[in-house]
Amino acid sequence: MSIKVENITKTYGTQKALNNISFEVKKPEIVGFLGPNGAGKSTMMKILTTYINATNGKASVNGFNVNTQTRNVQQSVGYLPEHNPLYLELYIREYLNFNATIHKVSKTRVEEVITLTGLTPEAHKTIGQLSKGYRQRVGLANALLHNPDVLILDEPTTGLDPNQLVDIRNLIKTIGKEKTVFLSTHIMQEVEAMCDRVIIINKGEIVANKKLTELRENQSQIVIVEFDYRVEEAFLNKLPEVIKVENTHDFVYEITFSTTKDMRSYVFDFAHDNELKILQLNQKNASLESLFRELTKS
Ligand code: ADP
Ligand code: MG
Repeated sequence: MSIKVENITKTYGTQKALNNISFEVKKPEIVGFLGPNGAGKSTMMKILTTYINATNGKASVNGFNVNTQTRNVQQSVGYLPEHNPLYLELYIREYLNFNATIHKVSKTRVEEVITLTGLTPEAHKTIGQLSKGYRQRVGLANALLHNPDVLILDEPTTGLDPNQLVDIRNLIKTIGKEKTVFLSTHIMQEVEAMCDRVIIINKGEIVANKKLTELRENQSQIVIVEFDYRVEEAFLNKLPEVIKVENTHDFVYEITFSTTKDMRSYVFDFAHDNELKILQLNQKNASLESLFRELTKS
């Protein structure tokens, strides 16, 4: 078992950050830990990496208990913290060699992780001279130094520009072929782009735990329609396969359908039959997005 979390609760003073959560990651796979800001993602990751203790419950990594077998857990885990602390004045090799000494890892391994994370062309620079994307690579290289089985990456793609984003996603996907990757994000597209499975957390509680293939099979769609006048939600609910109707603003409605078949023509005919004027009509496939929004509503 790569990661096992059983009934973990964490309170900071009176603030409950995690409320009795349980989940497992069994085999090498890339699992997304998705939730809005403040959901408890970083807290969970700090517990799994032995940086903080849970208030209640049990967790293990690679079969090692995070409370009683901290050294073994640390050897099993590579961690990229949310605000990755890097020494800007150090050269990439200096920084990695320094950490290699701490981990008792050979200098050849430093060269290996430099190659693996695509740092070679920048390896002569100081960390301060690197773009955010390359700094994340240094963080990943550092997390990989001791060749851990499990990687815990806290928001690894947040703050990257679109090109850097694609590069780091690909790098994580490559790493995920051999290792268990548990990564957090507050952006569902990141999960869609990288992950085999998603665990959604909201206000310290797990609200979904699903394979991406499962989610894609059950795709839904949202049709966004603007009328020239107010329409009762109950009226729009008469459309076939409707899950939900939401009046987002003015006379604009978002209608969620439980089918992948394009429902715009139904909405159009419906409007025509009922003498409603349509000013705007759009459609998007939105299984994960709508699920995420639905599950993390306050
Ligand atoms: P996320 O990473 O999902 O944004 P966090 O795990 O950082 O969420 O935080 C979860 C909740 O716990 C938030 O409400 C946050 O304000 C609170 N929290 C996190 N760290 C501390 C701390 N050291 N002391 C007090 N409250 C904290
Ligand atoms: Mg966080």
